[in-house]
Amino acid sequence: MKEKRTKIKEVLSSDLIGQKLMVMGWVRTKRESKSVAFIALNDGSTIHNLQVVANAESFEESTLKKITTGASLGVFGEIVPSQGAGQAFELQAESIEVYGEADPDKYPLQPKRHSLEFLREIAHLRPRTNTFSAIMRVRHSLAFAIHQFFNEKGFSYINTPIITSSDAEGAGETFHVTNFDLDQVPKTEDGQVDYKQDFFEKEANLTVSGQLEGELAAMALSEIYTFGPTFRAENSNTTRHLAEFWMIEPEMAFYDLQDNMNLAEEMLKYLVQYALDHCADDLQFLDKRAADEEKNKPQNERNELSLIERLRFVLENEFERVSYTEAIEILKRSKPNQKKKFQYLIEEWGADLQSEHERYLVEKHFKKPVILYNYPKDIKAFYMRQNDDGKTVGAMDILFPGIGEIIGGSQREERLDNLITRMKEMDIPVEEMQWYLDTRRYGAVPHSGYGLGFERMILFVTGMGNIRDVIPFPRTPGNCEF
Ligand code: ATP
Ligand code: MN
Repeated sequence: MKEKRTKIKEVLSSDLIGQKLMVMGWVRTKRESKSVAFIALNDGSTIHNLQVVANAESFEESTLKKITTGASLGVFGEIVPSQGAGQAFELQAESIEVYGEADPDKYPLQPKRHSLEFLREIAHLRPRTNTFSAIMRVRHSLAFAIHQFFNEKGFSYINTPIITSSDAEGAGETFHVTNFDLDQVPKTEDGQVDYKQDFFEKEANLTVSGQLEGELAAMALSEIYTFGPTFRAENSNTTRHLAEFWMIEPEMAFYDLQDNMNLAEEMLKYLVQYALDHCADDLQFLDKRAADEEKNKPQNERNELSLIERLRFVLENEFERVSYTEAIEILKRSKPNQKKKFQYLIEEWGADLQSEHERYLVEKHFKKPVILYNYPKDIKAFYMRQNDDGKTVGAMDILFPGIGEIIGGSQREERLDNLITRMKEMDIPVEEMQWYLDTRRYGAVPHSGYGLGFERMILFVTGMGNIRDVIPFPRTPGNCEF
């Protein structure tokens, strides 16, 4: 009869001394003397390993030889008090089944610290490291917490299309979706690509945002959110941009800009609290890891707070709410601007803020998360609600330490005439967007929403420095491996 498996997390968190049970997992390390082998076994349920003790006399030498770093085992035995330091109890093996060997001369993961760059090249194996398994568990927990947060508030989860024919941001950073044989693309008489012959009989692309469709749903269900993949062909090789990333986009009828900010701040704090409550072991590991990384940074770039302190800090402080206009004044007067240390100097009102400016505001000036609102209309999307001053729109971006922008949102322009005028000014094809404009024609209401980049949130919570390390298989320019 096959023994029922017990997960290592359960073994380590209970008092099972004297009990016999079955564990299954992967070997992290093996230490061996003539008479006994100590095997650190991990099954991904927790960052911690279970120590398995195998007496040489009880096992074939050939079996013990197969047990190397990376091999997979099922071990049946008794939980006994541990003789050694480092753990209170261990599993005394009675039988071991080696499911799969891992040739020690070839297996790329050795029991030592590998560089993140190296691990990115073997992204198919990196979840087997402590760092990446911790990140993936945190990622899972945050995804679950997002659904729980919105569910508790009565929001409906909506799936918006991944293939669309609209470019929500109007930024033209879309990936095309086509069924054409690219060597023989059909052309019209005047030499244009003939999309009428393509699969959808029109130009199609991968979505950059689910917002526009989300707005349609909010006009019926009042409060909705999307949580799905988005795609941007932006050629920005930064530590905060992916070509494929996941976005959470709530959209709420009857919310103004203040309501929008309140919800966003509450949500971010809820997620941080959830991680502290449910990922304590992983966060402790990542905290220590981040502290080690800090030592390699120059003194003036080091964080004053540890990772866990930074998470607590976000919980305990109100986010600073500052208008764009105030922010520009602060930036103009700032030391790095006066001393021309910014790469992009802030000369006048209307300038788009770069991440160096966002981070100055958050990390140096306010020293806490900042919500910037009322941006110039010319640096924001067409759908944002126009303010009475004729110059600004009801946008709000949330800026986080070490990250910069983590959320971008706005109150939406619900007045049909204003919206159409703005679309024309910005060359948005009004005719093709009639379905969107119908929300303003029939039963329009004030409404708001925002987008949270899921990976940027995970960056913040895990203290990692590069967005490529918080998604299992990163897509960036020139990189579509696995
Ligand atoms: P940025 O200025 O940092 O490029 P954005 O203004 O293009 O961001 P939005 O279009 O407002 O961002 O998207 C909403 C959120 O999605 C952002 O606040 C950010 O958290 C996330 N995000 C945007 N682009 C990316 C990307 N390429 N990779 C990962 N996350 C992203
Ligand atoms: Mn962008």
